[in-house]
Amino acid sequence: MKRIDLHYVILIGMGTGFLTGILMHLYGDPESSAFTTAVWCFDLLGKDLFIGGLKMIIAPLIFASIVTGVTSLPNMREIGAVGVKTFAYYFVTTCIAVCIGMAAVLVIQPGASDAARNVREHRAETLREYREAYQSQTGRDPAAPENRADFLAFAAKRDGQEIAATDFQSQYGVMQSAEAMGPGELLRQSLLLPVLSNPFTSLSGSPPNSLGIIFFALLTGIACLAVGTPAQPVADFFKAFNAVMMTITLWLMRLAPVCIGCIIASMIATLGVDALKSLLWYCMTVVGGIGVHICALLSLVLVVGRMSPFRFLRGIRDAWLIAFTTTSSAATLPLTIHCTTKELKVSPKVANFTLPVGATVNMDGTALYEGVAIIFLLQMYGGLDDVPTALTGAKLFIIFVTAVFASIGAAAVPSAGLITMAIVASSVGLPLHYIFIIYAVDHLLDMFRTSTNVMGDMVGAVIVNRLEGDRLGE
Ligand code: ASP
Repeated sequence: MKRIDLHYVILIGMGTGFLTGILMHLYGDPESSAFTTAVWCFDLLGKDLFIGGLKMIIAPLIFASIVTGVTSLPNMREIGAVGVKTFAYYFVTTCIAVCIGMAAVLVIQPGASDAARNVREHRAETLREYREAYQSQTGRDPAAPENRADFLAFAAKRDGQEIAATDFQSQYGVMQSAEAMGPGELLRQSLLLPVLSNPFTSLSGSPPNSLGIIFFALLTGIACLAVGTPAQPVADFFKAFNAVMMTITLWLMRLAPVCIGCIIASMIATLGVDALKSLLWYCMTVVGGIGVHICALLSLVLVVGRMSPFRFLRGIRDAWLIAFTTTSSAATLPLTIHCTTKELKVSPKVANFTLPVGATVNMDGTALYEGVAIIFLLQMYGGLDDVPTALTGAKLFIIFVTAVFASIGAAAVPSAGLITMAIVASSVGLPLHYIFIIYAVDHLLDMFRTSTNVMGDMVGAVIVNRLEGDRLGE
C-alpha cells in the first residue's frame, strides 16, 4: 500500500466499522453469545493487537527520539532556546483552551437544558429519600443547620455505597485518591517524583513513566554533548535505534485500517444511546469548544508558523485519525513524529524533542474538557443539598487554574482526563459521584480531546520549528 493512500484506507475502515457497529446496535442482542463473541474479536484486533503494538514501542521510542533530538542540536544554548519556546507555547495554548471551554459552557448553558433539568429532578428525588432515611435512622432533622454537616456525610456515604455496587467501583477508588491529593500534591506525585525515577523502572512501567524517560533521555543527550567526540557512538546508536522504531511504527500502520474499523465497531455496538440523548447539549458544548480551539490553533499555524492551514491539516491526517480512535496521545506518538517530520517537514531536531514532551504534558483538549465538565455539572446540580450554588468569579478562577494543572498531570492514556477531573471537582466542592453521570459519554469525548491534544503538539512543533529552524541551520 502506498503511504499516500493510508488515510483513505483508514477512513474506509472507520466507515465499515461504523456501519457494522450501527447494525449490531440496532439488530443485535447484546446478551447473545454471537454479539459478545463479535465484540470480543473486535477488541482483540483493535485494542489488544493494534493499541498494544503501539504501546509496545512508546517507551523505547520516547527515549531514542529525545536523545537523538538533543544530540543533534548544536549546543546548550539551542537546547535552552527550543525548551523555553516549547514550554511557553504549551502553557499559553493550554490556558487559551480552558478559556474557550469555559466561555462556551457559560454561553451555551448545557446544564440548564430540559434534559439536564430531568437529571437534576432525579437527583433531587434521591436526596429527598436520603433525608427521610436520615431522619428515621438518627431522629434528627436534616434541614437544621447544626445537622447539615452530619447529613451531608450520611448522603456521601450512601452515594459511595451505591457506586460500590456498580461497575464504577474501581474508577471511584482511583478518583477518591486523586481528590485526596489536591493540585499541589497531584503535581508532586505525577510530575516531580516520576521525573527522578530509576530509568529502567520508568521504561518497564505499564503505562511507561514518560516523565522519567524524558528526563533521563534529556540528561543522557546533554551529557553526550558535554563529553563530545568520545560519546559520538552513543549518539549514533540512538539515532539508528530511533530510525528502527519508526520503521516498526510504519509496519504497524499497515494494520491500522482493519484494527481501527474494529475499535469503532466495538464502540458503536456497545454505546449507551440513552445517556447520549440526555447529555447531548453537554457533548455539543465540548465538541463546539474544541472546534473553536482548533480554529485558534490553525490561526497560529498560519500567522506564527507561516504554514497554510490546509497543508497542515493534510499533513496531520494520519496521526489525527489514530489519536481519534485510540484515545491515547502516547499510543499515537510514533505516528505523530512521523507525520510531523515527513509530512509537515519539521526538523527532526525540533520534533524529536517537542513531541514526546508535548504528548506527556500538553493537553489542550483535556484542559478544555475539564473546565466545561465541571461548570456543566455545577449548572445542573448547583443548589442541591450537597452542591454549592453560585458560580462566582473566584470559583471560575479556581476552575481555570485547577483545569490547567489537571490537564498537565493527566497521563496520555484513555480516560485519564476523567480521573484528574476529581481534583477540579473537589476544588469547588462538587462531590465525586456527580462526575459519574458524564462517564457514559467519556469515551466519545475522549476521541475529540485526544485528537486535539495531538494536534496541539504538532502545531507547537511547527511553530518552534519556524522560530528556531533557521538558527538550527534547517
Ligand atoms: N486520552 C487523552 C490523551 O491521551 C487524555 C484524556 O483522557 O483526556 O491525550
